[in-house]
Amino acid sequence: HSAERRGHEQALYDESLGHDAEQRLLIENALRLAIERDQLELHYQPKVELASGRIIGVEALARWRDRTTGEWIAPDRFIAVAEESGLILVLGAWALREACRQNREWAAQGLPPLVVAVNLSAVQLQQSDLPSVVRRILAETGMPAEYLELELTESAIMEYPEQANLLLRELKSLGVKLSIDDFGTGYSSLAYLSRFPVDLLKIDRSFINALEQDSSAAAIATSIIAMAHQLGLQVIAEGVETERQLAFLQRHGCDQIQGYYFSKPLAAADLGWLLTQDRRLQMPEAVSFKRTL
Ligand code: C2E
Ligand code: MG
Ligand code: MG
Ligand code: MG
Repeated sequence: HSAERRGHEQALYDESLGHDAEQRLLIENALRLAIERDQLELHYQPKVELASGRIIGVEALARWRDRTTGEWIAPDRFIAVAEESGLILVLGAWALREACRQNREWAAQGLPPLVVAVNLSAVQLQQSDLPSVVRRILAETGMPAEYLELELTESAIMEYPEQANLLLRELKSLGVKLSIDDFGTGYSSLAYLSRFPVDLLKIDRSFINALEQDSSAAAIATSIIAMAHQLGLQVIAEGVETERQLAFLQRHGCDQIQGYYFSKPLAAADLGWLLTQDRRLQMPEAVSFKRTL
């Protein structure tokens, strides 16, 4: 039996098999078991406010520990399968509950208050009882709604925009924060998206990545920040890895940053430890700005 299981697990992580139906089924079954057995975890990546240099929030990111290698399997490997199989509804509710529970635990430890952001899939947006699921989880965990942020991608919203608008209004009325993730990668205009009740835009990592080489990425990032501010939205840059990127974003008035430059996603205990250190983001010296950036 264990040899057979090992065979399955090997097949599961063999990239050469590609994502054919059989492999998807293997992943789906293993994921279902992992959810049942509580083998998923959330890791948390700090979001830093540029004005203060302080951690003001975290993004919760799902991780799956491979039992055979002890390594973490990244969400790219299982979120799509979870969406196709419908497992994302269970996974999504679990992530919401776990993120809220953990945030309460940090608060109980006397750590400064944090907003915890949870990613929502397009499939969850099509779930008409999503607002009641969120309301119930807030009540059960005792989380004040203003400390929960829901991240939705532009493409998830644009799939059924009218339906999404109604749902987002219901979610918003609970008091949670809403953000648009991976902003700039879709085809919708900021003017159009401003009809949705969102609080925050997350500039996609691809623009941040290209800031130093590609003047159009820099122009796009700059105008996203300016337009978002005119529409009353806050802006966060994701995937900030270098000091020059940070300097650019600071200079153009970006509100928050998230990325390896400050910290990778961390296990809950490590994030808790980081918070006790009150580590601040050090701003680059103004003189070191490269003029061309
Ligand atoms: P995302 O929501 O855009 O999350 C940001 C991703 O960028 C994370 O990848 C994070 O680890 C990575 N990242 C952060 N800073 C940097 C950086 O400086 N450089 C680079 N190269 N990468 C950085 P991760 O954790 O692999 O997650 C990938 C995607 O999976 C997420 O993208 C999100 O769309 C999805 N995801 C993760 N957890 C959940 C979940 O609980 N539910 C749903 N529906 N989706 C999830
Ligand atoms: Mg996200
Ligand atoms: Mg993102
Ligand atoms: Mg992204």
